[in-house]
Amino acid sequence: MKKKFVIWTLVLFSLYGLLLGLYLFQWADFGVPDAYKGTAADPATFMTDRQLELAEDYSRYKDFLSFITEPLEWVIYLGVMVFGVSLIFKQFSERASRFKIIQIPLYVLLLQTVTTIILFPFDYISRRLSISYGISTQSFSSWMRDELIGFWVGFVIMAILITVLYWLMNKFKKRWWLYAWMLLVPFLVFMMFIQPVVIDPLYNDFTELQDKQLEEKILGLANQADIPADRVYEVNMSEKTNSMNAYVNGIGSNLRIVLWDTTLNRLKDNEVLFIMAHEIGHYVMNHLYMNLLGVIASSFVGLFLAYHLMHYTMRKWGEKWKVKDVSDIAALPVFFLLLSLLSFIASPVELAISRNAEKAADEYAIEMTEDPEAAVGSFQELTVNGLSEVNPPALVKYLRYGHPTMMERIHMLEQYQEEKQE
Ligand SMILES: [Zn+2]
Repeated sequence: MKKKFVIWTLVLFSLYGLLLGLYLFQWADFGVPDAYKGTAADPATFMTDRQLELAEDYSRYKDFLSFITEPLEWVIYLGVMVFGVSLIFKQFSERASRFKIIQIPLYVLLLQTVTTIILFPFDYISRRLSISYGISTQSFSSWMRDELIGFWVGFVIMAILITVLYWLMNKFKKRWWLYAWMLLVPFLVFMMFIQPVVIDPLYNDFTELQDKQLEEKILGLANQADIPADRVYEVNMSEKTNSMNAYVNGIGSNLRIVLWDTTLNRLKDNEVLFIMAHEIGHYVMNHLYMNLLGVIASSFVGLFLAYHLMHYTMRKWGEKWKVKDVSDIAALPVFFLLLSLLSFIASPVELAISRNAEKAADEYAIEMTEDPEAAVGSFQELTVNGLSEVNPPALVKYLRYGHPTMMERIHMLEQYQEEKQE
C-alpha cells in the first residue's frame, strides 16, 4: 500500500501541477474583454505597462502556489495514515502519559508539527514572492514571529476542540457529531467575540485613528450610520506590507471596523471615506452575523457528513492502518482530511455568497458617499498597491475570490455614475 501510495501521489501530483501550470501560464485569459477596454475598469488606463506585467506575473505565481499547497495538505494527512506515522504518534503520546487529557493534546502537537514543517517551505516561498514583487516589507524575524504565534494559537484552539471531540466520540458512539456541533456553536460565538481583543493584538498594534483631521471625517460618516466612535480602529500594517485593506470583525460589544494604516496613509481623504463606507455597509447590513449563521449551518452539515464518511473509511481501511475505530485518536488525520475536503467542496458556494455581500457593501458605500470618482480612485489605488489581477481567470475567481473582481467592482461604480447623470 505504501509503494502504491507513493506512485499514485507522484503521478497525480505531477499531472495536476502540469495541468495547473498550463492553465495559469498558457490557457487562461488574463486580458481585458473588449467591452471594458478604455474604461476606468481597464487597468491599462491607470497602470503603467511595467505594473501590468508585474501584476499578471505575480498573480500567476501566487495562484499556482496556493492551488498546489491545498491538495498537499490532503496528501500529508493520507500519508501519515498509510506510513503508520499516526500510529507512532499515538503510541508515543500514550507512553508519555496515562491521562487522555495529556495524550490527546500531545498527539495534536506532533501531527501539527509535521504538517507545519512540510508546508513551511511553501509559506516561505509565498513570502519571498510577495517581497520580490514589492508587496510585503516584513523582515524575516517579524514574519517568523507571526508564524510562531499562529502555530501556538492554532495548537491551543485545536487541542481543546479535539480533546472535547474525542471525549464525545468515546461517550456517544452514534450522536457525537450532533453534540460536537451543539458545543461548537457557543465556542464559535466566543471565538468571534475574543478575536479582535485577544487574538488580533497578538500580531499587530491596534489604536484609535492617528490623523485627527481624517478621524473627524471618518467618525462623521460612522455617526451618520449610528456607529459609535470607539468602534473604529487603525492597525499598524505599514511595517509589514504595502498593500491596503480594511475590515469588520468581532461580535456584540467587540464588533469593530478596522482600517489598515496603509489605506489611511496612501489614499486621499474622500477615497478613505469610500472604503470606510463600504465597511459601514457590512456593519449596518449585519454581514458578520449572517456569516456566523452560515458557519453554524454548514458545520452542522459538515459534521454529519464527516461522521458517516469516517465510519465508511474506517470500515474500508481501518484494519490496514491498524486503527481500531472512529474514536481512536490515530484516526484524527482522516477526520481532518474529510473536513478539509468537505470545506473545499463547499468553498465555491461560500465564496459566491461572500461576493454577493461585498457587492451589496459596495452599493451601500456609493449610495452613502455619492462620490463615484473617489470610489473608482480608491479601487484603482488598491489594485496598483497590491498588484491585484483585475480580471482573474474563471477558475481562480470561483475557487479563490471572496470579493467581486476589481473589473466588476469598478464597472458597477461606473454604471452608478451613468445612471445618476441620466
Ligand atoms: Zn468588504
